[in-house]
Amino acid sequence: MTKRYRIAGLLLLAAAILACVPVVYSLHQARKQAIREKYVLLDDVSTSIRREVAGTIDVIERLSTEMRSSGDTPCSPEGLLRMQRFGISSHIVKSTLYLQDGKVACSSGGALMRQIVLPRHPLRAADGVLVYTQVQVPGLPEREYVILEKDGYALLVFPDGLISPFARPDLSLGLFNSMDGRYAARQGTLLPSWTTTTADKNNDGHFTDAEAGYLVVRRVLRPGGTGVIVATPLATIDTRMAQFAHWFIPIGIIAGLAVLGMALMMIRRQWSTRAELLRAINNGHFFLMYQPVFCLQDDTCIGAEALLRWQHEDGTVVPPDHFIPFAEDAGLIQLVTRRVLELVVQDLSGFFRQYPRFRLGVNLSPRDLQSMDTPRLLADMQRAIGPGNGLFVVEATERGLLEEASAQDVVAAIHAMGIEIAIDDFGTGYSSLAYLTTYPFDILKVDKSFTSTACTEAVTSQVAIHIIELARSLGMQTLAEGIETQEQADFFRSNGVLYGQGYFFGRPMRAADLSAFVPRHTRPGQHAGVQPPLKHTPAAALD
Ligand code: C2E
Ligand code: CA
Ligand code: CA
Repeated sequence: MTKRYRIAGLLLLAAAILACVPVVYSLHQARKQAIREKYVLLDDVSTSIRREVAGTIDVIERLSTEMRSSGDTPCSPEGLLRMQRFGISSHIVKSTLYLQDGKVACSSGGALMRQIVLPRHPLRAADGVLVYTQVQVPGLPEREYVILEKDGYALLVFPDGLISPFARPDLSLGLFNSMDGRYAARQGTLLPSWTTTTADKNNDGHFTDAEAGYLVVRRVLRPGGTGVIVATPLATIDTRMAQFAHWFIPIGIIAGLAVLGMALMMIRRQWSTRAELLRAINNGHFFLMYQPVFCLQDDTCIGAEALLRWQHEDGTVVPPDHFIPFAEDAGLIQLVTRRVLELVVQDLSGFFRQYPRFRLGVNLSPRDLQSMDTPRLLADMQRAIGPGNGLFVVEATERGLLEEASAQDVVAAIHAMGIEIAIDDFGTGYSSLAYLTTYPFDILKVDKSFTSTACTEAVTSQVAIHIIELARSLGMQTLAEGIETQEQADFFRSNGVLYGQGYFFGRPMRAADLSAFVPRHTRPGQHAGVQPPLKHTPAAALD
């Protein structure tokens, strides 16, 4: 699979994922929001029920206090009268009682109440109030009551009355005793396990019973006291969620489609650019410019670098920075390199017959250094130009040299053909220097970013000097790129740099202009003669 298809596949996958993300996210958010809202409702209801319970406990405390401070004898007519007032104080209290020796001694509700059999083991609430649950009133077997007692004075309470005002079809309501976990009043579905649950991980009274499908709020008034359960089926959440999703999903889908559309547009553009590049290669829309390279010691032009240009059908010329990276990504760079070498043959075959020792630098991409086709293409070029005509230099960047081990074989094969190897843009890419000793480099090209700061106060101004020293210690010749001023040329000359290239010496030019340029900047016969030995031969010695 080519890189292009991999990228297209990855883009589509990313788009599909991106399209799903907002939808899934919106559903998730909708559910979270619906659950939050439900818990708020359950909390409100439980607070109201607890207020009712607290109100009833308040009544029993007031009853006990008032009766004891009144001095009335329990069950005396005055005492009973006072008790009757409490007996009608709320819709929950059904009667007031006075308990003695485990029995109802008298009550505001008359003889019927005296027949009540008190359960044997009352629960003790924390505030000294005793609670009798599951109390039966004779003749009313279907109802269970609760008796709250303090100091003998007691209230007969119908606990369902505490919760019934809050009844709704979607809510389960329960009152339970936290000592034994038994429900004293209930409305709707209530599981026994909810009163003693350990599911409440955060200890905030909220938990989900996923098995039964309920959201539950469980509150206990005080340790050992009455507890309140309010629950709602999760199914009601799903209804809420569907309402949320109704809004969120279309938005998510629209956002996803927009992303997908953008991805498809990018892919289409990529593919049409690729087709355009292929057309340019095949239809001769590429041409080469040649930038002179000078020997700094004697100011003569010793060679040039071939720089590629793409001329669009409308006449605009595109610099290589705009299409070389794309050609690399699209897997077309080797076709581009083949075209460059063909153009060299086309442009300079005659020129090299005249100047056989003229050096020509050609740029190679990292991918070129991975393929043994490259030495073969270079050999074809040399053969077409004619043996002994021209000295060639390939320029490789640090990126290309570090990427794969196979670059070693390719570079070695090229070098064995008598072609020099230059390391291009030195110092801008990778920081590893180890590779410098593993390749047969002949020339180190100091990147123009260091040239521009070399004669200034900038912090990096010293870098150029260090690079020059490094190259010298490794036995390489140096070429300073991007020389634009006399001052920069003088700086590199005085620091022992052999070659210079830049607008100061000459801008990239057409082959015809190069033919006119070279004789004006060389000494007669400078590039004539047989090919000299390659390694580290100063240009001056090439005469
Ligand atoms: P490079 O190999 O570093 O080429 C030198 C670049 O610096 C050229 O840009 C050149 O026009 C520019 N330059 C030369 N002197 C000066 C100067 O004094 N000042 C300034 N500011 N710039 C100067 P160009 O032609 O746009 O090429 C850009 C890059 O594209 C090249 O950088 C090279 O990496 C790549 N390239 C060019 N032709 C080819 C090619 O045939 N094949 C491959 N694979 N890459 C190429
Ligand atoms: Ca270069
Ligand atoms: Ca360069």
